[in-house]
Amino acid sequence: MSGGCMRDRDPSHDLVERVATLVPEMRRRAAALDEDATFPTEDMIALRQVGALSIPLPADGGHQDEATDLLASLLTLTGSGNLSIGRLFEAHVNALHLLARYGTAAQRSAARKAAAMGELHALWVTDPAAGALRMTPVQDRWRMDGVKMFCSGAGHVAHAVVTAALESGEQQMAIVPMGQGEQAKLLPGQLQGMRSAVTGMVDFSGVEVGQEALLGRPGDYLREPDFSCGAWRGSAVAFGGVCALLDVTIKDLRARDRMNEPNQLARLGHAMIARETSRLWVRNAARIAEDKRVEPREAVAYVGLARIAVESACLDVMRLTQRSLGLSAFRRGHPAERICRDLGTYLRQPSPDEVLSEAASWFGHRVPHDAP
Ligand SMILES: Cc1cc2nc3c(=O)[nH]c(=O)nc-3n(C[C@H](O)[C@H](O)[C@H](O)COP(=O)(O)OP(=O)(O)OC[C@H]3O[C@@H](n4cnc5c(N)ncnc54)[C@H](O)[C@@H]3O)c2cc1C
Repeated sequence: MSGGCMRDRDPSHDLVERVATLVPEMRRRAAALDEDATFPTEDMIALRQVGALSIPLPADGGHQDEATDLLASLLTLTGSGNLSIGRLFEAHVNALHLLARYGTAAQRSAARKAAAMGELHALWVTDPAAGALRMTPVQDRWRMDGVKMFCSGAGHVAHAVVTAALESGEQQMAIVPMGQGEQAKLLPGQLQGMRSAVTGMVDFSGVEVGQEALLGRPGDYLREPDFSCGAWRGSAVAFGGVCALLDVTIKDLRARDRMNEPNQLARLGHAMIARETSRLWVRNAARIAEDKRVEPREAVAYVGLARIAVESACLDVMRLTQRSLGLSAFRRGHPAERICRDLGTYLRQPSPDEVLSEAASWFGHRVPHDAP
């Protein structure tokens, strides 16, 4: 039932088919890329060649549901191939989404052309505890100083959307072409998983950008519902990871002739339920997040619940898999070990407690006091 992660796709959609054909190769290459913490250059080229890097996004307008379902399918497929590739693709899409929302016509067009040529975009918004990125005006240009943390694709992407503090303290987005003197560095302590997403820190001190680099107005990055609703895209990638983990588990149990034992089957059944739970949440969250007719606070709360639901489902599948495969799931070289390491790392997204309690509060207050 490896097709469980692809059931929503429209079979007539060529691009989904083309990306699906890349998945076996992504899976085959994943172990070596993880071992060396290497950027997946060949896989990203393959994604560019099939047209995945320049797909129409829901934020571009046009057929909303079609674009949303297409994007969800591609995020899940890339995640099922290799979670690090899914993360890089997600980051690229997140940056293009912001450009579609807040960019000028010239910025949008330049980004589209660059993406079609295979130039990857990143979104780097996380600041270190000290030395956060800031921007100060120098005549008609802007000088950058400081660092961004947890930058996926550091040293490999062509453009980064970053947030930087202005003198007023507000956060301003900028689209920065790479190769202007910024320095990509390793994190002080490396992440255990997602090694081929090459997540490092980038020091922008001394980089200067022109007025044309400013994206939107101060505060736009945090503007809801886009700020929170974008989380559905990460959940779609994580769901792909669960699909891959289940495929690997089934393959291993079959190979060892252990699948038909009742306890193994029960765990498999529970893992399949968790996978389907993720699929349903991702599908609904994607549609709700990208539908501008939905009340923004409702959309944010729904996507918040979806994010936590998918996180829980992923953790359940990891636990079940590890119990089913035993120590094999902890041996270097076994794909389940790598996928669990990647998924466990990738699931650490910001402020899960706040997201859950705010969503619960929103829906909790929707119930009328006089409800029977
Ligand atoms: C593989 C990977 C790639 C990434 N790539 C990028 C990237 O390209 N660009 C980018 O900008 N970022 C990136 N990030 C960083 C990501 O966006 C988050 O910033 C990061 O994952 C937050 O992790 P955290 O668990 O430390 O979050 P935290 O928000 O610190 O949460 C940790 C725990 O603390 C709780 N908590 C949070 N705030 C408080 C508080 N004030 N008081 C008490 N408890 C609190 C949370 O609920 C949670 O339980 C990446 C992360 C990963 C894992």
